[in-house]
Amino acid sequence: MEKGNNFQSSKFWIEKILNQAKLYTSLRYLSLIYKPGQCHPIANTNTMNSREIIRIPTKLKIATGSYILQTVRAKFKSNTELSICKLCNETEETLPHFLLTCKSLEDIRNPILEDLINSCSEELAAFNMKGEHFDILQLIIDPFTYMTMLSFPQLRNEKVFKVIQNIIDPKCRRLCYNLHCERYRLLQLDDIKKKKRK
Ligand SMILES: [Zn+2]
Repeated sequence: MEKGNNFQSSKFWIEKILNQAKLYTSLRYLSLIYKPGQCHPIANTNTMNSREIIRIPTKLKIATGSYILQTVRAKFKSNTELSICKLCNETEETLPHFLLTCKSLEDIRNPILEDLINSCSEELAAFNMKGEHFDILQLIIDPFTYMTMLSFPQLRNEKVFKVIQNIIDPKCRRLCYNLHCERYRLLQLDDIKKKKRK
């Protein structure tokens, strides 16, 4: 009887958390495969490789909307001028701009992105992934989303999970981390130039 109650109440909380997560726009890219007491898979790596581990915080900040881009900074200070990307000075620095379109980051982005897309078409094609579900931004931020989009039988689900965990997610992590490092490097260079001018 008690066991049944526990089951009912944990089910209640899982549903409540999942429904709330849908409402938070900053979490809109995070797949809802969260289970109480478990780490979200993007916060996890199955290796003890320190090069992999160091990349996790950047990815998590991006996925939870706490990575500070110019648009976020501008919102805090109610200043729209601030929202322009300081790397290219062309448009607002939004998450899609930073991850996908900023020209100043092209050299870092293109090779990793190409490799990521190739892997996806090779690895995920085997699971009958339909093209209309494919959203590159969503894929980069949280590739585990595809687990919730597809209604595979359990066994195939586990296979997809392993492919994403071992092959796809490390590439997404690498992309986010390398873009972050290059952005940081360019911004610092910019600061140094300004200081020299003064
Ligand atoms: Zn830019």
